[in-house]
Amino acid sequence: MIDIKSMTLEEITEALREMGEPAFRGKQVFTWLHRGAASFDEMTNLSKALREKLAEAFFITCPQVACKQVSRLDGTVKYLWKLGDGNCIETVLMHYHHGNTVCISSQVGCRMGCAFCASTIGGKVRNLTASEMLDQVMFTQLDSGEAVSNIVLMGIGEPLDNLDTVLRFLELVNHPEGLNIGMRHISLSTCGLIPGIRRLGELGLQLTLSVSLHAPDSETRSKIMPVNRAYDVEELFGACRWYFQKTGRRISFEYAMIDGVNDHDWQADLIAKNVRGMPAHVNLIPLNDVRESPWKPSRRLSAFQERLESHGLTATVRRSLGGDIDAACGQLRKRAAEAKEGRHL
Ligand code: SAH
Repeated sequence: MIDIKSMTLEEITEALREMGEPAFRGKQVFTWLHRGAASFDEMTNLSKALREKLAEAFFITCPQVACKQVSRLDGTVKYLWKLGDGNCIETVLMHYHHGNTVCISSQVGCRMGCAFCASTIGGKVRNLTASEMLDQVMFTQLDSGEAVSNIVLMGIGEPLDNLDTVLRFLELVNHPEGLNIGMRHISLSTCGLIPGIRRLGELGLQLTLSVSLHAPDSETRSKIMPVNRAYDVEELFGACRWYFQKTGRRISFEYAMIDGVNDHDWQADLIAKNVRGMPAHVNLIPLNDVRESPWKPSRRLSAFQERLESHGLTATVRRSLGGDIDAACGQLRKRAAEAKEGRHL
């Protein structure tokens, strides 16, 4: 059986042509899929015979809501979806003045091993398919009744560790006959897999690249992000500079502020030194306290922000949304797994 929602319009049209169908059928099926049809039976402008033939060759993914939390503070919605094989992933819907943003996952779990991150605790289970990424956007819209204008690939997983599929997802979600979400409304966040950054740069996509920096010096970064031992931060800054020259797009650096670890003034100075000559935006994130982790949130957010600004850098402090729900990366999935094992929530 083939996952039809992961197929492009051209691929669906070709598959239908091989079944002896005219070209316009491809577009009909594609449109149904991207409106959230859960079965071929819903595709009422196709003959019953064709619907049956399609159901024999293809399947349509359709995640179930395993858990849904709505923040009473700001209306942030967090979904825990149960996928076809029983695995669970998270999606968050956030309301910003510039529109509704969904934060989607790209893998079940993650193998990057960042010390402060809840998504990485059980390792990587598998990559998500393009359809499963698309479903997170589509079914969040359908369930909430709210239109989504922006997507951030900042949920569970490392998107550049599943890049072929992420590129397919981007093509699908960007398609005029599909959800038609523009590249400039999409952000992709990476822990710093340089080959992936180079591939993205070569493609020249107009999406926003976010790089999870978290420390500008190798010693600290290797301590909290094992990926730094493979792709050192010096080299990473070089790749970012190259990416900017190639695409003309400003890079956003994510920086989770950890008490006594990465919140020293000299580290702000080092960031400034390394991003000199390229427009950069540093997004300071109040560390989400993950119970298992020894790291604590920094109390120097404003001081660090001012230090960066004193060097002429743009630095913002990310507003925390969904403080009363498990909205931070990987927390809901982890709690659900714990509950299943009989540990208390
Ligand atoms: N793998 C990608 C995308 C997922 S993580 C990446 O590393 O960028 C999305 C962002 O949340 C990353 O910047 C990540 O470092 C950050 N993050 C993870 N755990 C966090 C925590 N406990 N507190 C604050 N930010 C965290």
